[in-house]
Amino acid sequence: MKIYKEGDKSKAICPDCGMVETTFITRDVPIKGSSAIAKNILAGVCSICEKVVSVPQQSAPYVKEALHKEKKPLEVRIPQHLNDILANASIKIGGEYTSSLVNFLIKYYIHSHHNDPKAINKLLKVYENSALMDNVKSTNRLSVKIDEKILNELKDIRIYSNFKNETEVVKAIVLKINDDIVQEKDKKAMLFFQSVALAVA
Ligand SMILES: [Zn+2]
Repeated sequence: MKIYKEGDKSKAICPDCGMVETTFITRDVPIKGSSAIAKNILAGVCSICEKVVSVPQQSAPYVKEALHKEKKPLEVRIPQHLNDILANASIKIGGEYTSSLVNFLIKYYIHSHHNDPKAINKLLKVYENSALMDNVKSTNRLSVKIDEKILNELKDIRIYSNFKNETEVVKAIVLKINDDIVQEKDKKAMLFFQSVALAVA
């Protein structure tokens, strides 16, 4: 990848002016096909009309990040004690309760289950057999920032299992997090999560 500096020149096709010389300048760039804006990124500006006409490869991570931020959070209604499990799992692995640790745990469990029919089956059993789900009302909500890839994996888990909907899958994942982390039944998982928690929090 060629790295450009601000002020460097290149060439690109401007929709209004044709083949033009461009100058790389930091600009706020609206992303095509979305309402997201990548702020302060290096972009190729047409030397005639001064519109942004190209985005160098080195700016692509910010475009991706801007699209990611645009994603709506996954919202599910859950009973309060499942939120309590997540808050305490966060403390167990990171020493503090942060929403980024909770996000990380949910996403990690979705990702690690989605291609594993055996694990999904176990997850369903945990959900069906848990006394924590007896006579409960989902009076609270959980909001997880999730990108499209993980959201599709969550849908896959639901499709390839007997879960009724995605909310049930999320609840089952929280119950599994309770077993593994809060009740410390999976020491290996604990060590792994503790080792990555610093980087996530
Ligand atoms: Zn132009």
